[in-house]
Order: sequence, then C-alpha cells, then structure tokens
Amino acid sequence: MHPDVQALLAVQRDDLEIYRLESKLAALEPRLASLEKERTRAAHELERATGAVAAEESRHREAMQRVETSRQSAERGQRAYESVTSPREAAAAMSQLDFAKRATEESERDAAQILGRIGEMRRHVADLQAALADVEHRQSDARAALDTERAEIEGQIADARAKREATARGVPRALLSRYDRVRTRRRAETIFPLRGPSCSACDTAIPTQRRAAMAATGSLEMCEGCGALLYAGD
Ligand SMILES: [Zn+2]
Repeated sequence: MHPDVQALLAVQRDDLEIYRLESKLAALEPRLASLEKERTRAAHELERATGAVAAEESRHREAMQRVETSRQSAERGQRAYESVTSPREAAAAMSQLDFAKRATEESERDAAQILGRIGEMRRHVADLQAALADVEHRQSDARAALDTERAEIEGQIADARAKREATARGVPRALLSRYDRVRTRRRAETIFPLRGPSCSACDTAIPTQRRAAMAATGSLEMCEGCGALLYAGD
C-alpha cells in the first residue's frame, strides 16, 4: 500500500472516532429534553393554578365592592325611611331598604363562596409547588450526571481533534483536501480498498487501467457506484 494512503487511513480512523464521540454527545440531548419536558409540565401547571387564584381574588374584591355599595344603599334607605312624611313614602323607602338588604346578603354570600374556593385553590397551588420542588429535586442528580458525561465526552472530542490534526500532517495537502470534501458529505467511512477489481463498499467494478494507476501512484479514485474513495489495497 502506498504510504500516503496508509497515512490517510490513520486520519480516517481518527475521524471515525470523532464521529463516534459526536454521536455519543448528541445522544445526551433527548435525555436532557425529556427532563426539561417533565419540569416544564410541572411549572406550567403551577403557573395556571396561580393565575386562577389571582382571577378568583379579583372576583372576591368585586364581590366585596358590591357588598359595600349595597350596604351604603341600605343606609340611605334607612335614613329615607326615618324621614318619611306619608304612608306612600314609607312604603317606597321600605321597599328600597328591603331590596338593598337582600342585595347586601347576596353579595356577602357570593364573597364567602369565592373565599372558600380561593382557600381550596391555594391548597392546590401549595401541592403543585411541592410537586415542582420534588421534580427539581429528583432531577438534580440526573442533570448532574448528564453534565459530567457531557464534559467528559467534550474533553474526549477535543483530544480526538488534536490527535486528528497531528495525524493529518502526515498526508499530502491535495490528497487530504480531496478526502475531506467527500468525508464532509458522507460523515462516515470514506476511503475503501479495492476488493479484487471492485469497490469493497458496493462491488462496482473499476476499469483495469484506473486500477493500475491507483496501485502505482497511490492515487484515489471515486467509485461511480457509491461515491466512496477507493485505494489499491496491496
Ligand atoms: Zn462503491
């Protein structure tokens, strides 16, 4: 085998190791995403429940406002009743007073009911807060493990790239850049030996003349069948 091809095969081994490590790193993403999804779900549930409490509190303020308004109306009715000068005015004032008292009671009932609901909803919020804290607590170990694993793989990738760079210095520039162009497209094994007269990746036959040139000069030929770069094996 031509020494340039031998040197290029060493580069390819380094590249395949980098690809393997990069795939390992990429495989961490779905694990992180599933942790993130679980946490987000718990956080959204809490957010919705907190928003519902705020809406209910605003309804309670409105009900209390209605209580106040009808109380004032009842007081005015009371004063009007105390200063009537005819039975007809007395009847009218009494009717206004009754109406205002009923309205006050109704608003008070509303306000009390809403307050009861708010109490329940706050307990629900507290439960959801505890659930979110629980998720975060359970996840902290998993996240720490993922971080460690990621840092480890990133370190290995940095080492593998440095090694590749050193190995690549042993390959003539033109040969290396031809290999790199094809490799970048394939992102996998790129150079294959001939097996007999054919490409060992896909079995497409290579004409005799081209094979003779490959053996003599160490040149690479692109396989017309699969696009791999071929070298003479012996
Ligand atoms: Zn092929």
